[in-house]
Formats: sequence, structure tokens, C-alpha cells
Amino acid sequence: MPEPSSEPSPELVNDTIFGRILRGEIPCDQVYADERCLAFRDVVPQAPVHILVIPREHLVSLAEASEQHEQLLGHLLLVAARVAQQEGLEGFRTVINSGAEAGQTVFHLHVHVIGGRSLAWPPG
Ligand code: AMP
Repeated sequence: MPEPSSEPSPELVNDTIFGRILRGEIPCDQVYADERCLAFRDVVPQAPVHILVIPREHLVSLAEASEQHEQLLGHLLLVAARVAQQEGLEGFRTVINSGAEAGQTVFHLHVHVIGGRSLAWPPG
């Protein structure tokens, strides 16, 4: 019999606020969930609709993704489009901030889905 691993599971070491949401330790305003991801409303919305789509797997940022995440990343984008449709958005923007310099503040990959007003370009 192999010795039980003393390594904590990746889920347990996910000390980000989104890790806590995934473990049910803090509430969220959920709009969609499946076996691979969760989508919920941002607490500081930047537009009438502002939803975050996050993988259940702890991936720090897009920069950490590898080929093994190809299907998961595609799934997150399809879910982003699905929740935008669910919200009745005709147009919407998806944003993935990668790294502090790009404005990432929560180090668990997330796709912002923003809409419900006209959006300027270029972004800040
Ligand atoms: P980013 O700056 O790209 O890392 O985005 C992190 C986002 O998470 C911000 O838009 C925050 O408003 C949002 N956020 C932080 N804590 C929570 C929370 N507990 N529930 C929902 N959204 C949150």
C-alpha cells in the first residue's frame, strides 16, 4: 500500500478569495456552475453586468496555462458567452488580466464578462 501523501491537495492550497468561494467558505452571487467552472457576479461591478468565470482547478493566471489546459480554457470562454446570453447581452467584453502589471489582483485565473453599457476602446 502506498503511504498517504502529506501534500495538501491543490484545492486546499488555493488561498485566494476565489479558492475560498470554490470551497463554499464565503458566499458568491452564482449565475452558472458545472463540474469544471463557476460563474458569479463581481462584488465591485464595472458595468451593469459584470460576471467572473473561474475554473475549479487552481490556475494562477493565463501565463501559467499549458497545453493540458487547452480544453479548460476553451470551456471558460464558451461559458462566458453562455452567461452573457443568459444575461441578455447583445455585446459584451471578456477580459483576462494576467499578472499584477496588467491589473490582476486575485491570483486564480478568471474571465471577466462585462456588458450592459457601451464600452470604450482602448481599455485603460
Ligand atoms: P482582477 O483585478 O482581474 O484580478 O479581478 C479580480 C476581481 O475580483 C475584481 O473585479 C474584484 O472586484 C473581484 N472580487 C474580489 N473579491 C470578490 C468576491 N468575494 N466576490 C466577487 N468578486 C470579487
